[in-house]
Amino acid sequence: MMDDDVLEGEVFMNTVLRIMGIIAIITSIVVGVSTKSFFGCLFWVTGGACIAVILFALDIIIDNQKHISELLQQQSVHTKKLRTAYKTCPKCGYEHEETRKSCPKCGHRERNLTMENKLGS
Ligand SMILES: [Zn+2]
Repeated sequence: MMDDDVLEGEVFMNTVLRIMGIIAIITSIVVGVSTKSFFGCLFWVTGGACIAVILFALDIIIDNQKHISELLQQQSVHTKKLRTAYKTCPKCGYEHEETRKSCPKCGHRERNLTMENKLGS
């Protein structure tokens, strides 16, 4: 739920940055043309283009960060899955790592289980 909010906020930021970049270009061209001098026009258009480039760069940086955070999330989910490879002890019901050969609570061993099953059946 919180992740969704963050994602929506980032998408909103990207849109705002793009719109601001376009507005910066349009404004600089309009103001530049209205100065009616070549250098004035050049100055305003260059300034507007610089602002637009910065805004678009920020937009790309946010996009990249979003991508990186998505990758990190996937990685952490993957790591969690690896770490939470648990199995339940058939004797006492205690959950322990699958890599353990015996239960850390009651010391029940996997080998004993098959033997008990054989005896029980
Ligand atoms: Zn146990």
